[in-house]
Amino acid sequence: MRFVDLHCDTIGCLTGIESGEAGLRANHLHVDLEKMKKGDALLQFFALYIRTTADGRGYDGRSPYEIFEEERTCYERELRENADMLAPVLCYSDLLKNQAAGKMSALLTVEDGVPLDGKVERVKEFYDKGVRLLTFTWNYENSLGYPNGSSDEKGLKPFGFQVLEEMNNLGMIADVSHLSDRGFWDVAGHSKKPFVASHSNARALCDVPRNLTDEMLRALGEKGGVAGLNFASFFLVPGSSHTKISDLLRHAKYMADKAGIDAVGLGSDFDGIRSTLEFKDYTGMPMIAEALHTVFTAAEVDKITHENALRVLQACI
Ligand SMILES: [Zn+2]
Repeated sequence: MRFVDLHCDTIGCLTGIESGEAGLRANHLHVDLEKMKKGDALLQFFALYIRTTADGRGYDGRSPYEIFEEERTCYERELRENADMLAPVLCYSDLLKNQAAGKMSALLTVEDGVPLDGKVERVKEFYDKGVRLLTFTWNYENSLGYPNGSSDEKGLKPFGFQVLEEMNNLGMIADVSHLSDRGFWDVAGHSKKPFVASHSNARALCDVPRNLTDEMLRALGEKGGVAGLNFASFFLVPGSSHTKISDLLRHAKYMADKAGIDAVGLGSDFDGIRSTLEFKDYTGMPMIAEALHTVFTAAEVDKITHENALRVLQACI
C-alpha cells in the first residue's frame, strides 16, 4: 500500500444516497474501496464539503453546521459498514496499526470553516468528532478569512488566527487550499506546525488564483509542509477539460524545483472535478506513479506518493 491522497469529495457525493443503493465500497465515482484497493491506496483524506451560497447560507434551508453533521453521519456509516477494509486515522500510530491489519486508512477533513460560525469551541468539537484537517475557506468569505482571488490585504480574520492556534494545539492540520494569498502568508507566518495546500498546483504553469506562486511554494517547503497535486485539468492547463498525466508531471517537477522534493504530494480532488481523466479514476494511481518514475528517482517518487504526507501527519496529529 503506497498512495496517500490529501483530498477527495467522495463523501459529499455519497451523502443523501441510501445505504445499499451505492456506497463507499463500490460506486460509479472516482473513489470507492474496491478501486482504492486495486490502485494500491494507503490513506485517503475524505473531505466534508460544505455547500453554501456566497453569503454563507447552506442549501435546502440547512445550516452549514447541519450539512457538516449530515456528511459526517455518512462518513461514520461508511466506516462502520466497511470496517473489514477501511479504518480511521485519529493519530499517526493508527495508520501503522491499520496497515499491519491489512486495512486501508481514512482521515476526516472539512473543506470550509463556515460551519465553525465564529465559535472557537467548535474546533475542539470537530476534533472530538474525528476531524484532523480543516481547509480555512472554500471560494467564499467566512468567519475565518477570505478566499482565493481576494485583494492583497484580505487574509485571515482574527477568528482565523484563533482557529489556527487552536488547531496547532489540538493536533489538526491547517489547509490553505482555496484561501487568499494574504491568508496563505498569515498561516505561513503564524503556524507553529507544518501546514498543507491539500489540492493546489503551480501558478507559474497555470495562472489561476487557486494555485500557488513560486514564493508560496518556497515558503511551504521551508515550513516542512506539502502541496497536493490537484488532478483538475483547469488547474493544470488554463481552460483545459481533459487531464493528462504529462501535465501532472510538469507541475510535479516544477513544484519540486521551487518547494523542494519534500514538499510535493498528491491531492487528487477526485469526485470534486469534472475533467475527463487519462487515468480514469483511483485505479489509475499506479499509472501516475509509473510516469513519475520517468522524471524522478525511485526515492523521490516514494516521497511524492506517500512519505511527504506521512511526515506532515506525524508532525501534526
Ligand atoms: Zn476544493
